[in-house]
Amino acid sequence: MQLTLLGTGCPKVDHKRFGPANLVSTKKSSILIDCGSGVTQRLKEAKVSSTNINALFLTHLHSDHVVDLYQLIISSWHSYRIKPWRVFGPKGTKKFVNKIMEAWKDEREQRIKYEQRSSTKAFNIIVSEFDNYGKIKIGDLIVEYFTVDHKPVKYAYGFNFYHKKKKLTMSGDTKPCDNLMKYGQLTDLLLHEVFIEDEIKTFEKMRSKKTLHNVKSYHTPSTVVGKIAKIARCKKLVLTHFVPTEFNHKKLIKVVEKDFGKKPIIGKDLLKIRI
Ligand SMILES: [Zn+2]
Ligand SMILES: [Zn+2]
Repeated sequence: MQLTLLGTGCPKVDHKRFGPANLVSTKKSSILIDCGSGVTQRLKEAKVSSTNINALFLTHLHSDHVVDLYQLIISSWHSYRIKPWRVFGPKGTKKFVNKIMEAWKDEREQRIKYEQRSSTKAFNIIVSEFDNYGKIKIGDLIVEYFTVDHKPVKYAYGFNFYHKKKKLTMSGDTKPCDNLMKYGQLTDLLLHEVFIEDEIKTFEKMRSKKTLHNVKSYHTPSTVVGKIAKIARCKKLVLTHFVPTEFNHKKLIKVVEKDFGKKPIIGKDLLKIRI
């Protein structure tokens, strides 16, 4: 299988690191994970058509991970998608999708009526919400989902993808999490979020030590992520969801390598990795 990093950034705008999104694909199937800002542009750059994506999986409903959902759907219709979207996400996804579709209902109906295209199936969104744990088969890929710890976000998930004896693990957004280390054991590749200590500056009034602490406390610090990868005994560690998006690469590699024992890969938008 192949992992394509589509967006390795966070809510703050960075033209080199778009909002969180990843693609897992085989010759037969493709799954999009999250749809952060700019996902459709990155799909185009990666030469992936949204008409063929088999399913969308959402790690959680933080806006940076879902903000381009409608753009994904409408652009797929414009690209002649003729099948429904299957969306898998946490509790609340049905309500969220309904609200988004409702917000654009009048505009969409006018377009459909005026443009007279033969299919409107791309607007048919079939949503399934996760339990605490489960497995879902999408084509020749098996997706295993499990809860991670992104409190105060109530429902947040990590994923394992299985294909031909290979395993790919995604942390989603999480603070250091036992469940991730449990389900990520011996994975071929762990894609993990990271909060880079000492790289974020405080701003008067807007970002104090206290607000910084709050952001850090529901993510995984760079001084810890290598330890997690080590405990999970993963073969390869790829970092993503960088907070902040600009940082000293060498310094980050050094900090993580010290704990992990191997060099991590610093993710970047459009990086493709075969697993
Ligand atoms: Zn989040
Ligand atoms: Zn996030």
